[in-house]
Amino acid sequence: MPAYPLRAIVLRKTKLGETDVILDLIASDGRIVRAVAKGLRKPGSRFGGRLEPYSDVELLLHTGRTFEVVTEARTVDPHAALREDYDRQAAAAVVADVLDKIALEGQSDPRLFGLGDATLEVLETCAVDRLPTIVVAFLVKSMAMHGYRPELDACVACASDPAGSSLFSLSGGGVVCEACGPDLAASERFDPAARAWLNVLLSSTMAEVAQSDIPAEAVRDCFALMRSFVGYHLPARLRALDFYAGVAASAPGWDVG
Ligand SMILES: [Zn+2]
Repeated sequence: MPAYPLRAIVLRKTKLGETDVILDLIASDGRIVRAVAKGLRKPGSRFGGRLEPYSDVELLLHTGRTFEVVTEARTVDPHAALREDYDRQAAAAVVADVLDKIALEGQSDPRLFGLGDATLEVLETCAVDRLPTIVVAFLVKSMAMHGYRPELDACVACASDPAGSSLFSLSGGGVVCEACGPDLAASERFDPAARAWLNVLLSSTMAEVAQSDIPAEAVRDCFALMRSFVGYHLPARLRALDFYAGVAASAPGWDVG
């Protein structure tokens, strides 16, 4: 069986047996690939530290009986700072967790790899107080790629201008006017000002998001809404997102978790 190349980001490492590791990877075409790295946990492994979570790597794989098997690994970008800083690590874990769940569920979408790559890039280099903004932007963009782009400009039930409505329907996937609101289940209160910021995040690149100056209160409101939205539409529990909510709650302006 000939080896083949794969460009991928390492999302997660799981121990297998005495010395091996299973890698959850998102490939550049957006597929999730599970591959075993044999002997990775042996001292002096030939893979060295090249297969750590959030690393962007070029691999050679062959197809094994149960998993793909990594035969060679070359680093494209180690994203090392994401593993050395508590807040950056917590934010990067959200990216890895959400990509894993979305890519597994949906059809492969190469935009997911690009989004993940761009997000990890800015999470590594941005000012620490911008981390929550980047996480929110990632959540809304990844959900949009997954087919759940939030409707923010018209009521999802009657298409009217929602004006100053502060209702968002999780099931309907967008804002609802005050007249329709009571009829829709699973509605959340959401500050109309934060709604405008969510639109800004959707239309900005990750590099622009990292430079943006969105008020902490708006980021907090957007985060709370997107956390509910993601939780409503992705069936699996997102532990990294729950954990990040606790981490972000200590940021200035975030008096609720
Ligand atoms: Zn309506």
